Amino acid sequence: MKNKVNIIGAGLAGCEAAYQLANLGFQVDLYEVKRIKKNEVQNLDSLAELVCSNSLRSKELSNAVGTLKEEMRLLGSLVIEAAEHAKIPAGGSLAVDREIFSNFITEKIANHQNITVIDQEVTTINKNYPTIIASGPLTTEKLQKEIQKIVGEEYFYFFDAVAPIVKKDSINMEKAFKKNRYEKGDTEDYINCPMNKSQYDEFYKELTGAKLAEAHLENDKKLKYFEGCMPIEAMAKRGYQTMLFGPLKPAGLRNLDGSDNFAVVQLRPDNAADDLYNLVGFQTNLQWSEQKRVFQLIPGLENAEFVRFGVMHLNNFINAPLILNHFMQTKKNSNIFFAGQITGVEGYVESAATGILAGINMAKHLENAQMIKLPSTTVLGGLINYINTTSSHNFQPMKANWSIVADLPVEEMKVKKIDKKLSYSKRALQEINKIIDYFQLKKN
Ligand SMILES: Cc1cc2nc3c(=O)[nH]c(=O)nc-3n(C[C@H](O)[C@H](O)[C@H](O)COP(=O)(O)OP(=O)(O)OC[C@H]3O[C@@H](n4cnc5c(N)ncnc54)[C@H](O)[C@@H]3O)c2cc1C
Repeated sequence: MKNKVNIIGAGLAGCEAAYQLANLGFQVDLYEVKRIKKNEVQNLDSLAELVCSNSLRSKELSNAVGTLKEEMRLLGSLVIEAAEHAKIPAGGSLAVDREIFSNFITEKIANHQNITVIDQEVTTINKNYPTIIASGPLTTEKLQKEIQKIVGEEYFYFFDAVAPIVKKDSINMEKAFKKNRYEKGDTEDYINCPMNKSQYDEFYKELTGAKLAEAHLENDKKLKYFEGCMPIEAMAKRGYQTMLFGPLKPAGLRNLDGSDNFAVVQLRPDNAADDLYNLVGFQTNLQWSEQKRVFQLIPGLENAEFVRFGVMHLNNFINAPLILNHFMQTKKNSNIFFAGQITGVEGYVESAATGILAGINMAKHLENAQMIKLPSTTVLGGLINYINTTSSHNFQPMKANWSIVADLPVEEMKVKKIDKKLSYSKRALQEINKIIDYFQLKKN
């Protein structure tokens, strides 16, 4: 008889993981607390609830999240099957009727002979028992404490405080320059965008007047007390000088000709490939369009291409680069896997996708078979590679995008942008098909 597996959380990732394991012949106990106690954003009693938007974003293969959905479909995704069943017209996006979507998944899970749904709040984890933790961004408090015991208190986070990330090749290096503060270190890691007084004045005026995003949660008020990740606009509103003594401090960052600056914005490498840079200290709650408008006023960022905008909200996630391997398994304990938003991916589709891989790899682990490391030429592989290999210092969640996918061969990079994206997509789907064949996974 095959082993039994515990899965904590019947959200998007937990349901995907359960479905994969159950289809591979494993018995799954799927624990879900919502019918006993709902969190601030849950409304339905059914599983895999979309708590905010009803969109699974772009359908286009030229978009990384569109290709990710196709990769998931090939891997036998329950979420994609449900989305197809529940879809409603939304142009280029895959939007769903959230109740039809959630009911479809609930029925599939409840009627599966290998899955038992248990309405219970999990508060302890037996490290010797195969377990997938998929309790999401709003994990209950008692379980948060238990997870902290597994991953270490300092590696479990309660809030996103995400600074925007831009593509390195979109930074204007005729205005920006590379240097570390006080020229510390052997390599020049930071890109610096200098400002004179009039540029700072304009930036300051626009930043303090920019429109804020609507708070996701009532509890976002708590962010006010979390000084370590104060939004840049809140810092600016404290006074004209505050940013000049904080992230925009010019000390130790003279221009290459030796002249002084009034203010300097620093950008730090965000990935091992060194093609993405984050704006240091620029965690923000501004609307995305406002971020683009105001941050492009920074000299050197006039044409910056944003691969991720800043956000701030409640979000429980672990420091995946330190805790997880490429299989979604904890490095320290081979019986414990994580899946979903709690691993530091961001978004419905991304969360569900990691559930598929965690489910398949848990099955491989229990069968003592080779587990699957997806290549970073695929979107899911790129995402997992990102959460495994990005800097663990100030690790922040990531959505699907082409920048986290391995570059195409040089000759294919020279074509039009749209053709390039389609080449990325084509290669990703070919790679997923190869994996499916090699590991003899069922093809959809
Ligand atoms: C307020 C909010 C709004 C969001 N809006 C969007 C959006 O519009 N679009 C988007 O793409 N992404 C959004 N996200 C991000 C993310 O994609 C979703 O949260 C997504 O549902 C994550 O999937 P998951 O499976 O990891 O977690 P979830 O779908 O949250 O599933 C986790 C499940 O675990 C259960 N659980 C928690 N603790 C326990 C416990 N102790 N015992 C048993 N069960 C437990 C929960 O009840 C829940 O059902 C949002 C996140 C938040 C917090």
